[in-house]
Amino acid sequence: MARTTPPRPFAPEVLFPALAAHRGTTTRLHPRPGEPAVTDSHVGGPLLWPADAPWPVCTHPHPRDRGRRPQDIRLERFLGEFWLRGGGRPAGEEKQELLRALQDEYEVAGLEDTEPIPLLGVAQFHRRDIPDLPAGPDGCDLLQLFWCPFDRHGETGYGMHVDLRWQRSHEVTDPITRQPEPEVVGYDGYVPEPCVLHPEQVTTYQYGGLLPSELEAAITGWERQPGLQGGARPCYQYELSIPPGWRIGGFASWHVTDPYPMDCASCGQAMALVLTVDSSEWDGGTYSWIPLEDGPSARELMEGTPTKVTVGRWGELNVFGCPADPAHPPRWSVQ
Ligand SMILES: [Zn+2]
Ligand SMILES: [Zn+2]
Repeated sequence: MARTTPPRPFAPEVLFPALAAHRGTTTRLHPRPGEPAVTDSHVGGPLLWPADAPWPVCTHPHPRDRGRRPQDIRLERFLGEFWLRGGGRPAGEEKQELLRALQDEYEVAGLEDTEPIPLLGVAQFHRRDIPDLPAGPDGCDLLQLFWCPFDRHGETGYGMHVDLRWQRSHEVTDPITRQPEPEVVGYDGYVPEPCVLHPEQVTTYQYGGLLPSELEAAITGWERQPGLQGGARPCYQYELSIPPGWRIGGFASWHVTDPYPMDCASCGQAMALVLTVDSSEWDGGTYSWIPLEDGPSARELMEGTPTKVTVGRWGELNVFGCPADPAHPPRWSVQ
């Protein structure tokens, strides 16, 4: 089923004609639980990865020997949903005991802080499916997202480690059938649930703090006026500019850190947003983006978290690529 974003509650360029110069497109991915095939674009499914190529690993020095097992996290989620829907009802005590056991942490004996561990394969995106996905290097058409299952990187020692890989999909005729996976993960929110995608290209506008100051001031003034018929006040950030949820291309939101330059470490060029991983497809401030097909009940049914991925403090991860050379390493910002 396709997914369709409802019209915005206000026409941005009627209110602010100058916004036309700051308009772009982004592809909302609309992940929903499913069973994606290895050849599909997806989140959390099997990756089209050459059987004879080394799987990406984390070699950054950090503790990696303690955490939850990915299979326990998946089973806990499955049972949670299953019991929620009323299928099978073990005695309360028994149920609690099982859930508690699934939350146990394990130690991997002898795993040194520098030993390579497999990254989690998170998602893959075909250019044929996603209009805003930029071209990869050397004719590559499939982008794959990986990350380390621990928050122990970067200057702070608490950052993520993200890796993007490109494939020429037609050349991967013998994909890996058993994906490597770390034995334990530092954070359950990094383990994605399998989701199929329903890409939809929509209009988007630059983050407010990066607009010319006159235009930003005009928008801020408009936001201060009382809402129509006593309703909520209008909000550029959450209703007009950048849609919530997983998406490819468009503009990054900088609502946590304020904007800072994202320049390529290899060549100095200003980088462009490639992909956004969001902890929810919608929440209190962004209900107006719920696709028409999901209907009004989607608010209550907690369907805003199909991938079960959470990044930052219930935030979003923006991954940037170099427009001059897509082979240059990505950078990212967590908001
Ligand atoms: Zn790591
Ligand atoms: Zn570059």
